[in-house]
Amino acid sequence: MRRDCDPGRRPLCWAVMDRAPAVKVPDPVRRAVRRRLLPWFAENARDLPWRRRRTPYRVWVAEIMLQQTRADQALPYYRRFLRRFPSMKSLAVAPLDDVLKMWEGLGYYRRARNLHRAARMVRERPGGRFPDTLEGIRALPGVGAYTAAAVASLAFNLDAAVVDGNVRRVVCRLLGRTLTARELEAASERLLVRGRAGEYNEAVMELGALVCTPAAPACDACPMRSACAAYRSGDPHTLPEKARRGKKPHRKVAAGVVFNGRGEVLIAQRNPDDMLGGLWEFPGGCIESGETAAEALTRELREELGMEVCSEGLLITVRHAYSHFSIEMEVHLASRVNRAPPRPLQCAAARWVPVDRLRGYAFSRADLQVIEALECRQAPVSGEGTTAAGSR
Ligand code: SF4
Repeated sequence: MRRDCDPGRRPLCWAVMDRAPAVKVPDPVRRAVRRRLLPWFAENARDLPWRRRRTPYRVWVAEIMLQQTRADQALPYYRRFLRRFPSMKSLAVAPLDDVLKMWEGLGYYRRARNLHRAARMVRERPGGRFPDTLEGIRALPGVGAYTAAAVASLAFNLDAAVVDGNVRRVVCRLLGRTLTARELEAASERLLVRGRAGEYNEAVMELGALVCTPAAPACDACPMRSACAAYRSGDPHTLPEKARRGKKPHRKVAAGVVFNGRGEVLIAQRNPDDMLGGLWEFPGGCIESGETAAEALTRELREELGMEVCSEGLLITVRHAYSHFSIEMEVHLASRVNRAPPRPLQCAAARWVPVDRLRGYAFSRADLQVIEALECRQAPVSGEGTTAAGSR
């Protein structure tokens, strides 16, 4: 609600579909893919849990997690998620709060909400079976062209070529120039090893992750070196050219840890359709021009929840970067000075929670830092209120 960002984010990845323009892919490059890249992958592939025991469910969960997260970062989350939700059914019947809690810290929480919705949709299908066509997979919530192609090729070995950031970098370098999105689709279509699409997709992505890295490609260790135009040019790291991006907006935000006098603090749940939807947070909002953080906090809680609070000093300043903006959040300890129950207007729910129970709720990374700071303080601040917790 109060720390929203621009929802019009450009996807990082896309997949090869039909009607792509013609682009020349030299035969030596295509031959090298078959003769060198695939054997290299067979020998050098990382042992990742989603590569063992490939089921559509395990592949799908991995691909959703990997949409905006590197494999090494996703690993502990994947293991934890699969332990808690080992099957489509276990995910479908779980409360959304549990799913968000398992996703806590991974970011881009819309992925978790869509995963949950999709699991419920799959359960309604005949036999509860995962769709096994590109179109069927693409129809699931949260599955774009990239993820559909990845799941189709890895779980069902359908001939669909994936293009993500790693693939883009490798293919542009192999062909020696920065390709447009459409050209990249066409080139990937030409390079795809039909009948071995899953293997091909993973091999190119693995090469991009381990060898053909953005700043320092390890060309001497690369199986594609003899066919690579960028290697011959002597300047492989300059490709692909980067698009210029504007500076991210920076927002100053105030938030409050509001006590009710019984050791409980107020948390609010974000609306499901907002950024970080379904997660809990400490209430607050943007600091307006000419306001102090304490003033902004007082105003926000009065306007949003009909609650009068009084700042009792700074707890922590949290700086956090989201994909399209960054925040500096000044978090104050505060006490409630009126007895009216919270009146949630722009949040899904508000609740008083003992400090030692906060970890049972799903929070964003920025708010988890607030909880850590709170836990470090041994003595809670006492507030005035003694009324029953107002929640809904
Ligand atoms: S030779 Fe170098 S630039 Fe070319 S694909 Fe391999 S690592 Fe990348």
